[in-house]
Amino acid sequence: MSFKAIVIEKGETGQSVALKDFAEADLMPGDVTVRVSHSTVNYKDGLALTGRSPVVRRFPMIPGIDFAGIVGTSDNPDFEPGDPVILNGWGLGETHLGGYAELARVKGDWLVPLPDGMRAAQAMAIGTAGYTAMLSVLAIERAGVTPADGPVIVTGAAGGVGSVAVALLAKLGWHVIASTGRAAEAGYLRDLGAAEIIDRAELSTPGKPLGKERWAAGVDSVGSVTLANVLAQTKGLGVIAACGLAQGMDLPTSVAPFILRGVSLIGINSVTAPKAVRIEAWKRLASDLDKTKLAEMTSTIKLPDVLDIGPKILAGEIRGRVVVDVA
Ligand code: NDP
Repeated sequence: MSFKAIVIEKGETGQSVALKDFAEADLMPGDVTVRVSHSTVNYKDGLALTGRSPVVRRFPMIPGIDFAGIVGTSDNPDFEPGDPVILNGWGLGETHLGGYAELARVKGDWLVPLPDGMRAAQAMAIGTAGYTAMLSVLAIERAGVTPADGPVIVTGAAGGVGSVAVALLAKLGWHVIASTGRAAEAGYLRDLGAAEIIDRAELSTPGKPLGKERWAAGVDSVGSVTLANVLAQTKGLGVIAACGLAQGMDLPTSVAPFILRGVSLIGINSVTAPKAVRIEAWKRLASDLDKTKLAEMTSTIKLPDVLDIGPKILAGEIRGRVVVDVA
């Protein structure tokens, strides 16, 4: 039996991407097969689809770092045929055949049950990007910093991680400062709950080791000079969750914010978070993310449209989240 999938192949002249029929027999080992109904487009998918960064470690590869669907067959005691499930991370779309396909075979240990009250399309509107935003919020909460301590900054605010972070933090009572390079998205960000919008140019060129204290917490999806400036303007005992690298992988900072203000920098890794953390994050997303705001930030495409979307997300042209309706 075969099924439709986006397939990346590597030849002598480089990488090619096409919509193909893929044989079920060629799926990789796993104890659960899932009929995929939805996937999403994340920044890392853009890197895989364009080949701009070597995130794909095996060829042929079906990209798509997350999916939602229904269990077809299972040899795993935790899952039965018909169970609605989500998967993100664990090398999906990088080392293991991924979510841009009608069928997937994976390790049951990687799967999370779809939370009650959440539809598959909503889960993928959240996707890895939204899940990463939630992990960032959980990290700020664990550090004990609260809305009473001051504002929170979200960088890359109009992107996928940023949009979900803005909506979540606003709902949790934070005064959200949204940093964006797209002035035209100010209305969109205010609708999601941002109280202030700042131009990302304020943060994207080298600044002083310490600046005026402006925020108590932050979710940074940009990295590089922006993260250095975010740290330099964080209030004493504040906390910044670093989850992205849209500006760059480097971090040209000094120890000043850490040793003179007691600022904490917490790293966020969505790929291999333990199962208990995943389940907690997805439960919190089900309860704390306004479904109307989620719908406002989401657009939907079909599987063949994935072929054109990689360069757009890498250029920062995608607003919010993109769901791939696989079925
Ligand atoms: P998006 O492309 O949707 O969002 C990134 C946003 O960053 C853009 O929309 C833009 O926001 C801003 N941006 C883009 N280029 C630059 C630049 N040169 N300088 C400053 N800002 C820029 O991607 P995602 O939201 O899916 O992912 C965001 C980041 O988070 C990526 O780097 C991704 O790899 C990372 N990530 C990490 C995860 C982890 O496990 N740690 C998991 C998921 C994502 P605006 O237009 O508002 O300025």
